[in-house]
Amino acid sequence: MKKTYLICAVLLACCTNTFSQTYVPEWKDSKMKVKPIVDMKAYAFNVSDVKLLDGPFTEARKADVNYLLKIEPDRLLSDFRVHAGLKAKGEKYEGWETSGLAGHTLGHYLSALALHYAATGDKEFLKRATYIVDELDECQQARKTGYIGAIPNEDILWLSVSQGDIRSRGFDLNGAWSPWYTVHKIMGGLLDVYLYTNNQKALKVNEGIANWVSEITKNLSDSLFQKMLVTEYGGMNDALVNTYAITGNKKYLDLSYRFYDKKLLDSLAAGNDVLPGKHSNTQIPKVIGSARRYQLTGDKRDKDIGAFFWETVTKHHSYATGGNSNYEYLSEPDKLNDRLTANTTETCNTYNMLKLTRELFVINPSAALMDYYEKALYNHILASQNHTTGMVTYFVSLRMGGKKEYSEEFNSFTCCVGTGMENHVKYGENITIVERMAAYM
Ligand SMILES: [Zn+2]
Repeated sequence: MKKTYLICAVLLACCTNTFSQTYVPEWKDSKMKVKPIVDMKAYAFNVSDVKLLDGPFTEARKADVNYLLKIEPDRLLSDFRVHAGLKAKGEKYEGWETSGLAGHTLGHYLSALALHYAATGDKEFLKRATYIVDELDECQQARKTGYIGAIPNEDILWLSVSQGDIRSRGFDLNGAWSPWYTVHKIMGGLLDVYLYTNNQKALKVNEGIANWVSEITKNLSDSLFQKMLVTEYGGMNDALVNTYAITGNKKYLDLSYRFYDKKLLDSLAAGNDVLPGKHSNTQIPKVIGSARRYQLTGDKRDKDIGAFFWETVTKHHSYATGGNSNYEYLSEPDKLNDRLTANTTETCNTYNMLKLTRELFVINPSAALMDYYEKALYNHILASQNHTTGMVTYFVSLRMGGKKEYSEEFNSFTCCVGTGMENHVKYGENITIVERMAAYM
């Protein structure tokens, strides 16, 4: 039997690709030990195979690149070193980098560096990514636990978690601000550096963190684990699923299932819209992880979660721009007209909805998915950046007469600054996709 492949090129006006802080399968990707078990209908081009021509996307990329080059890695690394007992080489930044979410920016910065290097071959970006990974490796070796981080009082926090002392009201875990969210961002950045620049040390450091996650949660009962998941935990499931796919070690797949918010995700799998009143960006990454895991396992529940959530959010909770949320929260479906404030549509939400759309598209390509993608990419993501300064918005206001408010270079470092670092250097991945259909003779 001879196996041939019909390359069915489907050029779409605006499409999806690759794996910044997440992963969409590529054709015969040698870096993935675990291949998709479900029938893939489309694959992503590697971003290095796509050239971005002149236009507004290139303009936005240039502004982002200028900003990324102003960032000093040693300043983002400052508390990673201090908390590992090493001397800081730079003063830490202000904004969220001095708050409970300290360290999340470094993960996004690593992803942005790796993406831009892959897209353009710019060696300065490779140099910076390699340097940061070397530094994180040094921190990890100094700590000896596998963990690396810059979260205030993190050692006490994680010790209490490992002992089963779990307290959360939503964004806090034992008084710390969404610490798993930050762990996810760092893992995602390391995975991107491995995937885009072939840095083996990045994979090793990521695996060290994954092993630490396993170690400190091993004594938590399922009910305590669920109690912990009341706090925003980013896409921990997604990072662990991808660590499983790369290493082939099933332990990480099993661990990804522990980061399963049963209350929310079981409801979504059953087709119930339980989203009103929920913080939007806390939920989206959980669903991305399910959509990705479905590709590797064929788990029907994960498939149902992804499909129902996407339909519900894009058709019943999204504004005309493709963005969602008012003051970061979702509310009554199909009733958005009285929620047109200065704080509509958090940009991170759309960054994540685009990722979810990509994960679903490779399984079931449809114009509806890409219509949404195109709408949200142009009207929200591209519109979220000041193309002159490279600064980005947290919210894109839909208030009549409203205006955009942009981040500051070195004093913001919000979640949307982090995702914004990536948003505007990965337009090259969104031009075309090839659908390859296998035929047997
Ligand atoms: Zn945000």
